[in-house]
Amino acid sequence: MEISVLQQIVRERYFKTDNERGVYHTALWFHEEVGELSSAIASGDKQNAKEEFADVLMWLLTLANLMEVDMQEVVADYLVNSRKLPSK
Ligand SMILES: [Mg+2]
Repeated sequence: MEISVLQQIVRERYFKTDNERGVYHTALWFHEEVGELSSAIASGDKQNAKEEFADVLMWLLTLANLMEVDMQEVVADYLVNSRKLPSK
């Protein structure tokens, strides 16, 4: 699935609610999900970690929608530019 397709699905399902909540409070939800992912990883519960990976991705796309960021575009730019950087 293309990132842009997934971002559009997230926009259609959640944008109204997310927009009413606002970007700051939505960012807090995103951080909570990152914390839940970290906890799942630390606990060794792989099934829970899988669910939390999905939560984090959905909330990231929600934030991108609120900030009017095209994730397909920024990821493509990142991949092009990261070739110029020394590998980690
Ligand atoms: Mg979660």
